[in-house]
Amino acid sequence: MKILVTGGAGFIGSHLINQLSREGHSVISVDKLSLSGKKLQKARLRDLVGDVENYTIDITDQKKLGNLFQSNTFDVVYHIAAKPGVRESIENPFIYAHSNYIGTLTVLELAKKYNVQHILIASSSSVYGKNIKVPYSENDRVDEQISVYACSKRSAELLAYTYCHLFNMNITCLRFFTVYGPYGRPDMAPYIFTKNIINRKTIDVFNKGKQQRDFTFISDIIDGCIGLLECKNGFSIVNLGNNKCVELMDFIGTIESILEIKAQKRFLSIQPGDVVKTYADISKAKALCGYSPKVNISDGMEKFISWYKDYHKVK
Ligand code: NAD
Repeated sequence: MKILVTGGAGFIGSHLINQLSREGHSVISVDKLSLSGKKLQKARLRDLVGDVENYTIDITDQKKLGNLFQSNTFDVVYHIAAKPGVRESIENPFIYAHSNYIGTLTVLELAKKYNVQHILIASSSSVYGKNIKVPYSENDRVDEQISVYACSKRSAELLAYTYCHLFNMNITCLRFFTVYGPYGRPDMAPYIFTKNIINRKTIDVFNKGKQQRDFTFISDIIDGCIGLLECKNGFSIVNLGNNKCVELMDFIGTIESILEIKAQKRFLSIQPGDVVKTYADISKAKALCGYSPKVNISDGMEKFISWYKDYHKVK
């Protein structure tokens, strides 16, 4: 198939491209490349496997993205590009509305115009917001997001629903749960904790260590993304998580034991926008495509830390 991946220089997008290429698809990547993360983005693009065409395009640029759709016939679009991060979204909300809402609208308009058969959109566990019923199911109400980021991801899902309703499109929203692994994001806990513990710096432990996250290793997420490629069901929302809740203190303990370094910790209260717990019910993904996460947190963090040391040349 000919497949467009938006956000191809990002963490999840680059892994997705690699697997799609390995499976013989012809892949085109677009990304706007951010100034702050350019070094890691370039490394991800440099290490892509296969013959991938890369374009530096902002997905909100209707003209440039439109030209790409006009000169290629895409069977499938994985719309992965977005501005991620809960905390920054509270300080800089307009970037989130622009990339995540207007960007998604632009992709959907073009996918409609050029009759793309299936669009798979990266959503997030953050849309569950104040939900306290666990595990989080796709049938749960999601009306109480607590960050601008979460709200932008939910807005993208609502846009997707509207496009399916109006234009009979096939759109699958993938709710990812805390994804980690090699080439992972420097603003996320696995990276920040590993970096600070290696450098003997104090780590900030929010909510006094009482947070819980359903950490999902990147290869499991990619299995889910690709497993759902052929599942065209009109509008659909699917959780992709690990279905295991890890306490923050256990997570830190895992890193300490892999690195054999004791972390210096500063206990702080919960940050605005952060949810206390995420925990995915993955039965829908299992039923649709046999999704079955394989990597546990210690094996996953071993792989991440091994990549981190290699990338940063840590002895
Ligand atoms: P990332 O920041 O590594 O990748 C996102 C990419 O999108 C970046 O390369 C960025 O440059 C690009 N991008 C952003 N705005 C753009 C725009 N306007 N035009 C073109 N490119 C643009 O983040 P990630 O962790 O790989 O996340 C990928 C997707 O998964 C995002 O939609 C994110 O919201 C979602 N998600 C991620 C996680 C996670 O734990 N990593 C969890 C839930 C959801």
